[in-house]
Amino acid sequence: PTQPYDSDNIFAKILRGEIPSTRVYEDEWAVAFEDIAPVAPIHVLVVPRGAYVSWDDFSQNAPAQEVAGYVKAIGNVARQLGLVEDGYRLINNIGPDGGQIVPHLHVHLLGGRTMGPMLT
Ligand code: 5GP
Repeated sequence: PTQPYDSDNIFAKILRGEIPSTRVYEDEWAVAFEDIAPVAPIHVLVVPRGAYVSWDDFSQNAPAQEVAGYVKAIGNVARQLGLVEDGYRLINNIGPDGGQIVPHLHVHLLGGRTMGPMLT
């Protein structure tokens, strides 16, 4: 990792239950909760339970079972929210140029409306 994992980051506190969140899904590998500033009718953040700074950290350092568990969990969240028919968008921001603010890996899951191109 380019930076050490900070166990006091806000999502670590949410995972430990020290800060409230509206959880919509959880399993052995991941937890999903509503984003505090939603940009779509459905905007949830899917975070692995493990301590990873970013996708870079996770992809390089997580055991294969954990990678599989997290990837599967993201798909499970979308299915549980009933988004498979209409579709949805996954976004992952990595580091400063990626616009990542919170240093615990999270995938944004957006749904409930038609998304724009958003390639910037
Ligand atoms: P990033 O830019 O790091 O990919 O996205 C961080 C996301 O976390 C933002 O969409 C922001 O609204 C959300 N967020 C920041 N603080 C909190 C919080 O305390 N609770 C929740 N539920 N979401 C948060």
